[in-house]
Amino acid sequence: MFTNGKMKALTLSYDDGVEQDRRLVAILNRYAIKATFNINSGIQTGASSFQKGTVQVRRMNVAGLPELYRGHEIAVHSLTHPHLENLDDDAIRNELAQDKINLERIFGQKVCGMAYPFGTFNDHVISIAKDCGLRYARGVVSTHDFGIPQKLLEFQPTCHHKDPLLLELAEKFIKSKPAEPELFYLWGHSYEFDVDNNWQVIEEFCKLIANRDDIAYCTNGEAFFG
Ligand SMILES: [Zn+2]
Repeated sequence: MFTNGKMKALTLSYDDGVEQDRRLVAILNRYAIKATFNINSGIQTGASSFQKGTVQVRRMNVAGLPELYRGHEIAVHSLTHPHLENLDDDAIRNELAQDKINLERIFGQKVCGMAYPFGTFNDHVISIAKDCGLRYARGVVSTHDFGIPQKLLEFQPTCHHKDPLLLELAEKFIKSKPAEPELFYLWGHSYEFDVDNNWQVIEEFCKLIANRDDIAYCTNGEAFFG
């Protein structure tokens, strides 16, 4: 069960610490919906930028980020966003442990979670993540269901915000009166709303699912560990 004995929880997970997170956070705060933001502390600077479609996406400078993300959770996304499964042990450990240390210092909060960069991992990466003190870590494959993940270091989200089933799933979740706890876990990158010119997707989703008495609005960590 979640906060106040609720049987349903919603949590969001957004990656890469990009400029568009400012607009996303403003929307989420307006609806009192909470998220976890997965940050690459080794490249978290305005100088780190990449092209997506016609949009030049930029990460944000660190200054001001603790204030921006206040009320939300910060989680590991590795130092530099590599394919972790291609690295040797020391490099994997450095990518995860050092990101955790940096994020705890920058944000002044305990960091216990992760989103795998590119959503990729193998058993070896999972075991190192565990060694580094991480308690949950997410991939990018939609489950389209609301079951509570059993293996928290290799769980998959309910869906991405671009999923054509997004609103249908939200309606189903809203109507559900489950006997066992259920979790709606949404993920994405906020820059995609600019690239796809579809900010209305997250606005509509939030409007539909927010402010319901039987849903707890949680960060990832709150959803899994209270
Ligand atoms: Zn990423």
